[in-house]
Amino acid sequence: MQNNKRGNIEKLDKEWKEILTDDEYRVLRKQGTEPAFDNEFYDNFKKGVYLCAACGNELFSSKDKFKSGTGWPSYKKPIDEEAVETNIDKSLVQTRTEVHCNRCGGHLGHVFEDGPEPTGLRYCINSTAMDFKE
Ligand SMILES: [Zn+2]
Repeated sequence: MQNNKRGNIEKLDKEWKEILTDDEYRVLRKQGTEPAFDNEFYDNFKKGVYLCAACGNELFSSKDKFKSGTGWPSYKKPIDEEAVETNIDKSLVQTRTEVHCNRCGGHLGHVFEDGPEPTGLRYCINSTAMDFKE
């Protein structure tokens, strides 16, 4: 494991495979998507903080979570601007904006521009990629 100057975590693919469950590895490292409504946090509305399942980075607050009806946990914004990064994902016909953990680079989900005010954003995140701390 290496930490660069920004505190980011870099591991080899096989190292991730060892520390993550099969589902976590498929989502976080292979850009997988879990099934809608059949995941841990889509209807979790307890107060707390959502952490990256791979590295423990704080990603989202329950304050910014909302019911999107999509079957995935949805947030108006990350817990702070440094928590996640985005890049353009052209893997489907429709171009999407991919969201990943800013510390370990793990894939979290996508962000769409059809969320509620004031941000107008909807961070659509896989439960598998997160842990929850009440
Ligand atoms: Zn992470």
